[in-house]
This record gives sequence, C-alpha cells and structure tokens, in this order.
Amino acid sequence: MSKPIAVVTGASRGIGRAIALRLAAEFEIAAVARSREELAALQRDVETAGGECRGLVADITDPDAVERTLSGIDAQVLVNNAGVGAIKPFLELTRDEWRHMVDVNFNALFDVTRAVLPPMLARKSGHIVVIGSISGRSAFVGGTCYAATKAAVNAFTESLMLELRDSGIKVSVINPGSVATGFGSGWSAKSWALSADAVADAVAQIMKARGFRTVAHYPVLGGLMAIHHASK
Ligand code: NAP
Repeated sequence: MSKPIAVVTGASRGIGRAIALRLAAEFEIAAVARSREELAALQRDVETAGGECRGLVADITDPDAVERTLSGIDAQVLVNNAGVGAIKPFLELTRDEWRHMVDVNFNALFDVTRAVLPPMLARKSGHIVVIGSISGRSAFVGGTCYAATKAAVNAFTESLMLELRDSGIKVSVINPGSVATGFGSGWSAKSWALSADAVADAVAQIMKARGFRTVAHYPVLGGLMAIHHASK
C-alpha cells in the first residue's frame, strides 16, 4: 500500500529538509521550494534511505504556481515551513524586503493552505503544521517585520485550529528559538542554536500527540521552543 503524502514547503535546505527526511519513513514527501538542484539532492537522499520524494519546484509567493503545483495532491500532512528573514533596524529595511517577508512568511499561507485543505476536509483527517518562531511570541531588536510576520503566523494557526478542531484535522504551530541553518543574518551560527534535526524531532513528536483540543503551550528543549496545537 502506498504511503500517505506529506507536503513540506521550504524543503530544499535547513529545517524543511530535516523535516522532510524525518517524515520520509512514514510519508511520501512532496517537497516544495524554488531550488531545483537542492530538491533533487533531497529526493536522492530520501530514496537512498528507502523512501519516496517528489521535488516540486515552485515559488510560494506566486498563487498560480502554488495552484498548479499543489491542487490535486491528496496530502495527509502539510508542513508550512518556508520562510525568510531580513533582520535589521527598521529604517534599514527596504519596502521590497518588508513585502517579501510578508509574502513568504504570511501571505503564502493563504494559497498553500487553501490548495491542500479541501481533500483533508473531505476525508475528515489531516494535520497542518506551521513553523513559526519564538519571535512571534517574544519580539527582538531587528524583528519589526520578521517578528510581526511570525506573530501573524501564530494568530493564523490558532484561529485555523479553532475553526477545524471538530473536522478531524489537527493544526499545530511550532515556535523554534534560533536554529543552526543558513537562515537570516548570522544568529543561527551561535553555539546555543538548536539543530534543524531538533525541530524535525518536534514535528515528529507533535504528529503523534493526541488529546489536545484547545491551545496548549509547552516548552521543549530547555524553553527554547514552544509548541501549541489541537487534536482529537
Ligand atoms: P533556510 O535554511 O533559509 O531555508 C528556507 C527555506 O524556505 C528554503 O528551503 C527556501 O527554498 C524556502 N523558501 C524561501 N522562499 C521561498 C519561496 N518564495 N518559495 C518557496 N520556498 C521558499 O531557513 P530555515 O532556518 O530552515 O527556516 C525555515 C523556517 O523556520 C522559516 O519559516 C523560519 O522563519 C523558521 N525559523 C527559523 C529559525 C532559525 O533560526 N533558523 C528560527 C525560528 C524559526 P528556496 O530558496 O529553494 O526556494
């Protein structure tokens, strides 16, 4: 029997790649990003480990590309992970950087989630996981736009969870602290940064969690990460 499908955005590197590799034991991975070669490398690594992976090249800020790429995929899991961060003083942020962060981190949730949700609703099962950031809960210098997008991500995810909790669909948000990837402008190289694998562990853990139907916040990994979710 074929495995259920997990769509992971931003799977070409960093946290999304680690999540895709972790979920590949139980799911066929539909890996979304713009970088064709990095998706091909992920596909090879998943297949070498005995799994299945499709690389789907798409810019998630392009609604037509999202529709073309994702509609018709009957996914059991969606991980909205793709994100960008221009972390700098407010007056140094350009309008383009501001709009791009809002488009990737927040506006794309509209198109990607709408493309994947209808089959979950029809089936009355599924799990939408969103990768937020601790900055969505606790602001920081340089985060006027980034932290604001992640606060919006948290509000979106919690509202969606309340809307869907009687439909058999789980909705979760994971808010990592700093993670050692190529993201942003350097903080992720700090010795205390989380590994991308630690975030993938949290995603795997939340997939198995049962029994929450209201918002629950709890710390993971020494308080660097908070998770809240709802499920039957
Ligand atoms: P990363 O290594 O820079 O990876 C970002 C991913 O997003 C890449 O796969 C990139 O793929 C994809 N992406 C960016 N723009 C895209 C677009 N327009 N269309 C499709 N895919 C796009 O960053 P990361 O650290 O793994 O971050 C992943 C998520 O974790 C983000 O939401 C970030 O906000 C969140 N987060 C990160 C940290 C941290 O410290 N690293 C902490 C908390 C939360 P392509 O470039 O190939 O398109």
